[in-house]
Amino acid sequence: MSINLGTPPTKPMVLAPRRPTRKIKVGTTYIGGDAPIAVQSMTTTLTSNINATLQQIAELTAAGCDIVRVAVPSQDDADALPAIAAKSKIPVVADIHFQPRYVFAAIEAGCAKVRVNPGNIKAFDDKIADIARAATDHGTSIRIGVNAGSLDQRLRPMYEADPAGALVQSALNEAALFEEVGFFDFAISVKHHDPVIMVDAYRRLSQACDYPLHLGVTEAGPAFQGTIKSATAFGALLAEGIGDTIRVSLSAPPVEEVKVGIKILESLNLRPRQFEIVSCPSCGRAQVDVYKLANDVTEGLKEITAPIRVAVMGCVVNGPGEAREADLGVASGNGRGQIFVHGEVIATVPEDEIVQTLIAEANRIAAEITESGSPEVLVS
Ligand code: SF4
Repeated sequence: MSINLGTPPTKPMVLAPRRPTRKIKVGTTYIGGDAPIAVQSMTTTLTSNINATLQQIAELTAAGCDIVRVAVPSQDDADALPAIAAKSKIPVVADIHFQPRYVFAAIEAGCAKVRVNPGNIKAFDDKIADIARAATDHGTSIRIGVNAGSLDQRLRPMYEADPAGALVQSALNEAALFEEVGFFDFAISVKHHDPVIMVDAYRRLSQACDYPLHLGVTEAGPAFQGTIKSATAFGALLAEGIGDTIRVSLSAPPVEEVKVGIKILESLNLRPRQFEIVSCPSCGRAQVDVYKLANDVTEGLKEITAPIRVAVMGCVVNGPGEAREADLGVASGNGRGQIFVHGEVIATVPEDEIVQTLIAEANRIAAEITESGSPEVLVS
């Protein structure tokens, strides 16, 4: 019996079309609409320490961060914003709580976007018209950033019964204030530490409005737990086409947040895949120390960013098949490794030469890719 499996996709498949959203300008980039999903992070330096903050922004930029946020809890921090906004290579978002005057300072400083929190924004509510006017005059966008930990007290009773609903209600209340004065250049986030509540909130928010959505699992925890929580929640939403920018929150250096965010998008074909290791989990058939081999290859190739898939397989059962499908691979056995390049066996080397051979071949393939130009960039 023959089964019609349909036409294979001609470019990397995505699990769902992006939900149509408004496109807003964030400095030199965009969020929403057809703009690629942006990866964000936040500096951990004192913003008032301009050099340290710019240094960390440079590290984040090098890691692939698209947009960076800085905290502005004091006048000294507000005073540092003009220099930081001017010298940063990526758009800078000022994170403001409580103090309306810092919102105006951030807009005038040239920040690309200002994040305001409706939970502690009550002092802002009568200033929305002024904020909207200043933001429009300077081409600054806003993020309405609702966070479960600082939810508007008026919504606490609702939160007890329906936490996701209360987060969404808080965001929509604040959005309505901006809409009333004719301002629509904002993104929204409704963050919660529980991925299930967070996913529920973003799903409902995406039904209720077409503003671009900034995804985040707040206070997600240390690197291991935070990565899993973020990948689970973002994966569920992005697989439904929901989400226009992401921020992974980890109790870890912010560069790690960027790496995780990029890998989540790459895994869903929402960004072109870069360097990737396909390695087997090992089993009783393994004829080589797969963990060590995979770690050594990963370490040896950590500087490579070209879109190369390297397969590291422990035996000849699945090894040759996986190694053939990768750009580069090794299938190990009997103290040797068969090295594959684009499906062809190019060498069989002793086990202690596998890593150096793979590194040499990966560098050669990366150089070829660089010479022949960038691969197709997928814009979902
Ligand atoms: S490739 Fe071989 S060693 Fe690795 S998991 Fe599969 S069967 Fe086991």
